[in-house]
Amino acid sequence: MLNRDVVFEAIARLMPPAQPQGALLVVRMQRMREFEAVFGYQASDALVSAFDERLHGCLRGVDEAVRIGECDYAVVLPGLRDANHATLAAAKVSRAFQSPLDAGGRPSRVVVSVGVAMSGAEVSPEALCLNADAACAQAQRQPERHAVFNGQAQVSIGYEDLHHAITSNRLQVYLQPLFALESGTLCGYESLARWHDPRLGFVRPDLFVTAAEQTGLIDGLTRWSINATLRHCAPVFKAHPHLHCGINISPIALTAAGFVDQMSAALRIWDVRPEQVMLEVTETAFVDNPQLIGQALTRLREMGMKIAVDDFGTGYSSLSYFRHFHVDELKIDISFVRDMMHSPRVCRLVESIINMAHSLEAVTVAEGIEDSAVWNKLRELGCDIGQGYYPGRPAPADEALAQFSAT
Ligand code: C2E
Ligand code: MG
Ligand code: MG
Repeated sequence: MLNRDVVFEAIARLMPPAQPQGALLVVRMQRMREFEAVFGYQASDALVSAFDERLHGCLRGVDEAVRIGECDYAVVLPGLRDANHATLAAAKVSRAFQSPLDAGGRPSRVVVSVGVAMSGAEVSPEALCLNADAACAQAQRQPERHAVFNGQAQVSIGYEDLHHAITSNRLQVYLQPLFALESGTLCGYESLARWHDPRLGFVRPDLFVTAAEQTGLIDGLTRWSINATLRHCAPVFKAHPHLHCGINISPIALTAAGFVDQMSAALRIWDVRPEQVMLEVTETAFVDNPQLIGQALTRLREMGMKIAVDDFGTGYSSLSYFRHFHVDELKIDISFVRDMMHSPRVCRLVESIINMAHSLEAVTVAEGIEDSAVWNKLRELGCDIGQGYYPGRPAPADEALAQFSAT
């Protein structure tokens, strides 16, 4: 029997539809491959048994933990009243791994992330596992290393649905405004794709972008995104040369053969100056594939386009990519902006990021500004550009640019 089936069976037994209260945790040991490569199989096995023992030590007698992969455990927690209790359990597991484990006499630290999904009469064991897995992926990007699956039930995006959406122009371009924090003037937009599918409803972009990356549809999605964005922006940009537009580019599309030529053709077709295009690449991309990414970005920059590092601060980056090429913009991740008002430490971290970016002659953008207090604080810290629901939500491109057609 596959371990996955063991988990499905434990979920059905401990949290049956008649008494579904409970949660599933996915607990992931990160960087195990690196550990194994450095210290060998024996040490790695010893680390896993120490991990197993400690994990069991922080569970209740009624809980069940099953190893579901090389680095993953699923933990069934029956009888929890709500998500707060599940979060406490996840926090307890995270805390338990803050002190080193004994891997065959060698003290070893493991970084652990924990995803939480709440069970329910309507949630099948498979959906529960997928939800906890999605939360675990999100937890890897959170400072506290645990996250609760937030809301939208896991949709299964079919290849045909997505292919059809991309090729028959069912996606929409939304634009979110970017403002200079000092003067409050508009300096550009970020283009964000939206998909309202008749069957699936609203599908979150991070989900369908990932689906596109995994099914080979990302090149088509990227081509659509670039052309649709430039088509909307071109007339406005001609009259307002100080404006620019950020376009998110998946690292897979960026490193595909022909991307640079495709980008250059799109600029020609829509007659947009390269300086008005900011290509946003997530920081994790630089970590995963620095050489290929670096080559593509260098060529694009030589053509005059600008490069932003998106979600800066979440990519476990060594910053070494700054040694090899110039970055025009750093977009400080939303998680820092969200926490900075409650934590002086996070606030100082944001200030340090801003100072570092400035010393590298890069512009700083703060994502996720939701109130005036955060706006004022970022301005005081010297951040250049702000983006968020407070200054302006993403809106359909025509709506976002309507102010220009009135003048
Ligand atoms: P991102 O590039 O970091 O985009 C910023 C995200 O923050 C957007 O989420 C935006 O709606 C959200 N946001 C903006 N202001 C606020 C705020 O004040 N509060 C909160 N809570 N959120 C705010 P969205 O649109 O869901 O996009 C998620 C991610 O999906 C984007 O993150 C980007 O990585 C990706 N994405 C979106 N459109 C495209 C696309 O056309 N191509 C590619 N490759 N990726 C895309
Ligand atoms: Mg972005
Ligand atoms: Mg971002």
